[in-house]
Amino acid sequence: MAESVKVAVRVRPFNQREKDRGSKCCIKMTGKTSTITNLDDTSVEPKMFTFDYSYWSHDGFDVDDEGVSIPAPGSNYASQRMVFNDLGQGVLNNAFEGFNTSLFAYGQTGAGKSYSMVGYGPNKGIVPITCDELFKTVEGNTDPNMKHCVSFSMLEIYNECVRDLLIKNNPKGGLAVRQNPSIGAFYVQGLTKQVVGSYKAIEAKMEEGTSNRTVASTAMNATSSRAHTVVTITFDQIKKNEVGEETKRTSIINLVDLAGSERAGSTGATGDRLKEGANINKSLSALGNVISALADASSGKKKVMVPYRDSVLTKLLQNALGGNSKTIMIAALSPADINYDETLGTLRYADRAK
Ligand code: ADP
Repeated sequence: MAESVKVAVRVRPFNQREKDRGSKCCIKMTGKTSTITNLDDTSVEPKMFTFDYSYWSHDGFDVDDEGVSIPAPGSNYASQRMVFNDLGQGVLNNAFEGFNTSLFAYGQTGAGKSYSMVGYGPNKGIVPITCDELFKTVEGNTDPNMKHCVSFSMLEIYNECVRDLLIKNNPKGGLAVRQNPSIGAFYVQGLTKQVVGSYKAIEAKMEEGTSNRTVASTAMNATSSRAHTVVTITFDQIKKNEVGEETKRTSIINLVDLAGSERAGSTGATGDRLKEGANINKSLSALGNVISALADASSGKKKVMVPYRDSVLTKLLQNALGGNSKTIMIAALSPADINYDETLGTLRYADRAK
């Protein structure tokens, strides 16, 4: 497996709809291996997949003296903090070393992408914990010759158009995606990038951005987002030498909550929803192709052309994919047999990223 790409899978608890339909668990996790079984058709062989991390969430845990859930011996249970320790800490270390990171969550609507990335209420996800820890580390800096600057931007890609989530009125058709002719990097013209001085400031910006998102209901989830949401943290470390000259090292952290991966057919989509679905599929498959090309390139298997230009999403993530960048994917899974096809699709997508 390519060193620069890490893949985690995480199974969420059953939701009410699944419980009401009496649905059964079709996934088993043992160590790094996940097995999915088609409970409706026993002639189909169970399929096994292996990932860097495999997380379970609704049973297999004990409670410690302080009331915190911890994994029971031999179980794959993982709390939000444990997921951060495995994945978010690496993002931070990487940023302090001057490298870029893209962390994204993939999966069908309602499978737990937002829970893992942002979290709900006190169950903060990897994005807020990472931002909080970033500032704690910066605030602990005792080197008078070292300064840090953190800036924040948040956008969504909806139907291949980019909307700035830190402004109320975006131009019709979205902001232009341009390419810097000298270095080849893509950027969004006019995107707001705000310097933030504390974790609280990031939290406020995240809330502001989230309230500006495009949401549309699908039959699966009344508040699902049909857009990709990209939070970009730019982290500058500015170091002064003995003669007062400053050098700046910049790291980019892209935190991406992808639009639901469900195929249009399974959500009763027509008209606009169908068009959204086609655009979502297009950018998710472009992302899959890019990651799989990067994995091939770093394993030295063959000379590969990485197809960044195939979607707006991959153009914008290019700055933090490939090269010295680290890529982390969390594939969110429903445990329920009624979602077998989508869950198998997610496991296959995650498997290609290795
Ligand atoms: P998505 O972003 O993929 O559409 P959500 O993150 O909103 O899905 O998850 C759907 C529901 O499942 C939410 O109510 C969320 O709180 C719950 N959920 C998801 N993952 C977990 C988890 N690992 N542990 C507990 N609850 C979860």
